[in-house]
Amino acid sequence: MLELRDVHVVFDGFRALDGVDLTVPEGELRFLIGPNGAGKTTLIDVITGLTRPTAGSVRFGGHDLVGRKEHRIVRLGVGRTFQTSVVFEELTVVENLDLAASFRRPLWSLARRRRGVSEAVAEALARTGLEELAERSAGVLSHGQRQWLEIGMLLAQRPRLLLLDEPVAGMSGDERERTGELLTQIAADHTVIVVEHDMEFLRRHASTVTVLHEGKVLVEGSVEQVSADPRVQEVYLGR
Ligand code: ADP
Repeated sequence: MLELRDVHVVFDGFRALDGVDLTVPEGELRFLIGPNGAGKTTLIDVITGLTRPTAGSVRFGGHDLVGRKEHRIVRLGVGRTFQTSVVFEELTVVENLDLAASFRRPLWSLARRRRGVSEAVAEALARTGLEELAERSAGVLSHGQRQWLEIGMLLAQRPRLLLLDEPVAGMSGDERERTGELLTQIAADHTVIVVEHDMEFLRRHASTVTVLHEGKVLVEGSVEQVSADPRVQEVYLGR
């Protein structure tokens, strides 16, 4: 599904990514961890077309992504969240979802909108459990609900691969738990890559973890394998 081979990114002589190989099969929930500066954001930027790799290949669903514009990569089915919010506070939940969905929608389908909420929006509402808040202004949502709305906005664009940057940051225990369940459920029919630091959250919800360090994949495996690895303890857990 997603395959990176020997990916290098060099910024003014600094190797942000230094020969990364990464394969994420379809339908996997993959967690990406590593200390600050390890290259996690750069890796996501390379997949989404924000940064062009200096060398190496990035393939997704049979397409070569290197050199493709960001919006074309979105149309191939790659969606990402950023740490900064993209929610429009003055719009309702359903309007936010509709807006996100409309970026992929042809004009002729606007007629269908008058007949109610589109299928993609209804599905995103149901999946994120925000149906009862559909007509609420996004500005009144709690932090957790807002994060779920952003994930819903991504889902409304019908991606096949979702890249999520620290989705549980700042959430309460209950909200984390619900987000873990949401991610597992989304991974039933999407490929999901999550950047996350919270080891407790990983223990509860992660299957496979990739650890990045100094622009390289240090270790890959189950949470148990990764957290027991002395190299990981040295560079990441013991910092
Ligand atoms: P992480 O997300 O794991 O914290 P990043 O991918 O953000 O790491 O950064 C990896 C390294 O690359 C950092 O040392 C950072 O300073 C550097 N870096 C990232 N983007 C740029 C850029 N546009 N120009 C120069 N250096 C950059």
